[in-house]
Amino acid sequence: MARKLDGKWAAKEIRRELRGRVDTLVEHGVRPKLSLIRVGEDPASVVYVRTKERASAKVGIESEVLVLPEDATEARIAEEIDRRVADTAVHGLLLQLPLPGGLDPTPLLYRIDPAKDVDGFHPFNIGMLCLGEPTFVPCTPLGILELLARHGVEVEGRHVAIVGRSTTVGRPLANLLSLKRPGGDAAVSIVHSRTASPERITREADLVVAAAGRRGLVTAEWIAPGAAVVDVGIHRTEDGSLHGDVEAASVGEVAGWLSPVPGGVGPMTVACLLANTVRAAEEQNRKKG
Ligand code: NAD
Repeated sequence: MARKLDGKWAAKEIRRELRGRVDTLVEHGVRPKLSLIRVGEDPASVVYVRTKERASAKVGIESEVLVLPEDATEARIAEEIDRRVADTAVHGLLLQLPLPGGLDPTPLLYRIDPAKDVDGFHPFNIGMLCLGEPTFVPCTPLGILELLARHGVEVEGRHVAIVGRSTTVGRPLANLLSLKRPGGDAAVSIVHSRTASPERITREADLVVAAAGRRGLVTAEWIAPGAAVVDVGIHRTEDGSLHGDVEAASVGEVAGWLSPVPGGVGPMTVACLLANTVRAAEEQNRKKG
């Protein structure tokens, strides 16, 4: 039976550590502030933004949510981003994705000051990660690294197979895990929708990260006995219950470790957003002298 990679517990630990750092900032007259911009009423985005707002309050981060109408133009959203980039009281700035109506987020993400880019989606921050000098790193990959480290699951010298190559999860995670540093030094394979028999590759891995957005895709046949499995997927069924990309019942029988859904990667993603925000506030305060 797999041991649990407990994201709820690890996220609580991170928040406890962050509270101390927030207190220090406040003693120096700085209250970390996170500004969230949501466009439209996508139900998942409504929940995510509310979760981020509540989590911020738990560690003493001030948060501000701007909700723009469904039909907001790129120029309108850009104006609001620019205002927050210029506002020295805002340390972290986030545009909740996806945008409605197929609006391309790329030019908008480019406007966010890399120093305030707590989601790590600005090309400068992505580029620094690719160069092996990570600055702000996307929260889900960062959360996965923290989840593993805090349970003593080592990746150094091991083979990690990542299912999914998205720019928000799979790719940055592959970069992080292959960095020459503690928490990295892994041999990384990426499998994706065009990979023939991905289970051939995942079966050889010591750690499998499922981030394909396909409910129950990863079954026991994909996993080597004793391997660690991280489930990134989130799928809400009609009865409101949450499920992952991993078929938890069968995989739980063969894996050595398994992260649950809910209570695995989700809380870690939010905790790492808070960590990035506190770091942004610390760095901006240091620059101010
Ligand atoms: P995405 O749709 O952008 O990317 C999915 C990737 O999976 C693609 O690269 C695709 O090639 C690959 N893929 C699709 N079908 C596959 C298959 N049959 N075999 C192998 N690879 C396949 O998704 P994303 O944004 O990376 O998110 C993935 C999942 O993780 C979603 O369920 C999403 O809701 C969830 N998610 C969770 C968190 C969290 O905090 N827990 C954060 C981000 C995303």
